[in-house]
Amino acid sequence: MAHPPICRVCPACGFTKYLRVEPSRLIAFVKDRQCKECFTRYARPTPLWAKLFFICFGVLAIGGFLLSIVESLMNGNMPNPSAALPALWGLACINFGVISFREKVIDAPTYAQRKPTPRPTPFDFLN
Ligand SMILES: [Zn+2]
Repeated sequence: MAHPPICRVCPACGFTKYLRVEPSRLIAFVKDRQCKECFTRYARPTPLWAKLFFICFGVLAIGGFLLSIVESLMNGNMPNPSAALPALWGLACINFGVISFREKVIDAPTYAQRKPTPRPTPFDFLN
């Protein structure tokens, strides 16, 4: 399933009322939305706190791994290779944080700015 566009309001018509639907992304903090007017499905941007949290968590995980290597070497031991697993998770978290900072948020026209579709009149046949 293709990822829905990331937008604050409906990217198709700008309508602000929506239904909450299950998120289609693997990591999502809020449910996806479906416009009540035109049924277009869209996703909310990742919150800033979540982006920063993932990057900070990743940096801490990698920092802990590097500290464990330094500690092992200072004690004359070989570093434990299993300590690399949290560091890999840390890399994945940093990757997610950086990707979410680069996600493209679509600017939709507000519902009021939307061009109204002309209603058919009984005199259209004269044109
Ligand atoms: Zn819509």
